[in-house]
Amino acid sequence: MSYCYYCHQAYSETWSWALFLGLANFPLLCQTCAGKLQLIKGDICRMCGRLFSLFPEQYRQGDFCNDCIRWEQDEEWKGILQQNRSLYVYNDFLKEVIAKLKYRGDAEVMKAFHSVARSSFKSIYKNAVLVPIPLSDERHYERGFNQAELLALGLGRPVELLLKRTVHEEKQSKKTRRERMERKGNPFEVMNPSNIVKENIVLIDDVYTTGSTLRSAAKVLLDTGAKTVSSLTLGR
Ligand SMILES: [Zn+2]
Ligand SMILES: [Zn+2]
Repeated sequence: MSYCYYCHQAYSETWSWALFLGLANFPLLCQTCAGKLQLIKGDICRMCGRLFSLFPEQYRQGDFCNDCIRWEQDEEWKGILQQNRSLYVYNDFLKEVIAKLKYRGDAEVMKAFHSVARSSFKSIYKNAVLVPIPLSDERHYERGFNQAELLALGLGRPVELLLKRTVHEEKQSKKTRRERMERKGNPFEVMNPSNIVKENIVLIDDVYTTGSTLRSAAKVLLDTGAKTVSSLTLGR
């Protein structure tokens, strides 16, 4: 008998040995919880990794979604982020999982995602240094951990805590996309820039929402000498 890392219900081992048959990627979750997650697989935006099947055809142009086309047409932001890949669709269940993790301090839940993240993303971060998106010092203190860092630490690559928040983060949800894009001043700074010169960096975060947080972080890393910056997130 094992216990689900999310709902803590006992579940049968027959489910977890399905892993060895390649049937399951969720050895630490029960069948019910794993069944509510939607792995991103198939036809995705080449840039941000979102599933094309989830939105109408008119929001897509070729291999890219309209949001990414807008980013890449913006002189300030084009080419900043090489690509983003995400594990799961950010559906109601994943929202719940991340909220539980963040606000109820259930840090253990992140372990349930390590093996699937490792196997899905190996090719992206093969030679990369992983850099988690930091919280503000204040939030980190309140929460006791940074969920992005917990995700990064299970991926089997060197993790460097190179970024620091420069300003107190305002509630992103209260701003429009335009306001976020136009925000002056980057919310991140790089500590120990000498550690990233000519490195391929993969940023790690819990969710890719508009892409502006990841791009701001990518920008300071490129400005301080990183070779390329991509990103990986749990949800998209
Ligand atoms: Zn469960
Ligand atoms: Zn896209």
